[in-house]
Amino acid sequence: TREEALLNERTPRSGEMFARADRVLAAGVASSYQLREPWPIYLSHGAGPRVWDVDGNEMLDFHNGFGSMVQGHAHPAIGRAVRDRYEFGTHFAAPTEDAVVVGEELARRFGLPLWRYTNSGSEATMDAIRIARAYTGRDVVMKIFGSYHGHHDTVMVSIGVAYDRIGDHDHPAQLAYGGGIPQATVDMTVPVHFNDADSMDRRIVELDREGRKPACVIMEAAMMNLGVVLPEPGYLEAVRDVTRRHGVVLIVDEVKTGLAIAAGGATERFGIEPDMVTLAKTLGGGLPSGAIGGTAEIMRVVRDGTVYQVGTYNGNPLSMAAARASLLDVLTPRSYEHLAELNDRIVGGCQHVVDEHRLPAYALGIGAKGCVTFASEKVIDYETFKANQDVELSELAWLYNMNRGIFMTPGREEEWTLSVTHTLGEVDRYVEVFAEMASDLTR
Ligand code: PLP
Repeated sequence: TREEALLNERTPRSGEMFARADRVLAAGVASSYQLREPWPIYLSHGAGPRVWDVDGNEMLDFHNGFGSMVQGHAHPAIGRAVRDRYEFGTHFAAPTEDAVVVGEELARRFGLPLWRYTNSGSEATMDAIRIARAYTGRDVVMKIFGSYHGHHDTVMVSIGVAYDRIGDHDHPAQLAYGGGIPQATVDMTVPVHFNDADSMDRRIVELDREGRKPACVIMEAAMMNLGVVLPEPGYLEAVRDVTRRHGVVLIVDEVKTGLAIAAGGATERFGIEPDMVTLAKTLGGGLPSGAIGGTAEIMRVVRDGTVYQVGTYNGNPLSMAAARASLLDVLTPRSYEHLAELNDRIVGGCQHVVDEHRLPAYALGIGAKGCVTFASEKVIDYETFKANQDVELSELAWLYNMNRGIFMTPGREEEWTLSVTHTLGEVDRYVEVFAEMASDLTR
């Protein structure tokens, strides 16, 4: 298409770098999430709400490292903390004070008393599930259809549209997306529908009858990989009730929502009482990090050594210094007010464009996150997403953004993440570009 050709013309140096990368990195990238045809866009630097690619194109960043950079790029407070820490040594695999300060602040924000650290969201959900399995003495894990919780075997089942065939071992695409995952592991993961606590209840009863009662339900309180799907009123309360009644551990995966949609994440925003939460992304302000919080009762299995929760880099001093500065100096109550104001403006602006041009779409947001979902019917779960999302429009919107200086998450399943350094003028620019696409489409 015209927009595709334009993007290729604007990014020749990315093309050259990819040609070089293709000779030394498998498929030319560090993570398969960075793949893009004909080449991914290589960035050289970022400052506040802006990033620059290697061709010198300046863009406003609404991608923000898949939602990791709510602090904005190269924040001075985080830079100072990391530089200071570097001067005193970056890694000991021995405890440092910052890990304690971060734990205290997370306990305060999420209302869970005991914490452990990891280096990524995948490690956080992997270890949280292991803790839940050890605590209950059960093996089966319940998750939500279409929900992503990282790349370890147990949760790589029904993770989203592009990866829908994972678990279908006869399908050729299974190799590309989900090879290497034992069927025995896949069989231990049972997905249920979002926004339907009754079906969760029924499925748990069925599994119990088969002697396969789940150890845990792992879920996001608001789904963040089908655009943004909010919980219907009463749903989260019902999930809490069902899991409590059956003695199933409720793990709220806050890798995307925690610290981004409110100071205490979805737990605070929706008033949930999870047994465990998992964090990553925003926690480290751009440094690899993750965390698991739990009740004293559940974390007992870590305390008494039943579960070996370990990692050479867990609580790494650089990551902890960045997390401490993020939590105490950057992601302040004032920052969350600012993010809410920005999000109201961008959601309102985009919805106005939708209404004016009668697009099959709607805008919604929460905290630092939001999106325009191109669908004529409201998406409430994975099935309604697959049935209603307009794939072409979603993909066109990404190209329009990239060609007009809006750096945005690729694919059809992601959302924008705002940073504390964005201003009203910058979110207005996002709306302007969206309006331009809308008028081109309806002209
Ligand atoms: N959980 C959720 C909800 C996520 O969105 C992600 C990543 O996108 C993960 C877990 C995995 O985190 P990571 O990519 O740091 O391993």
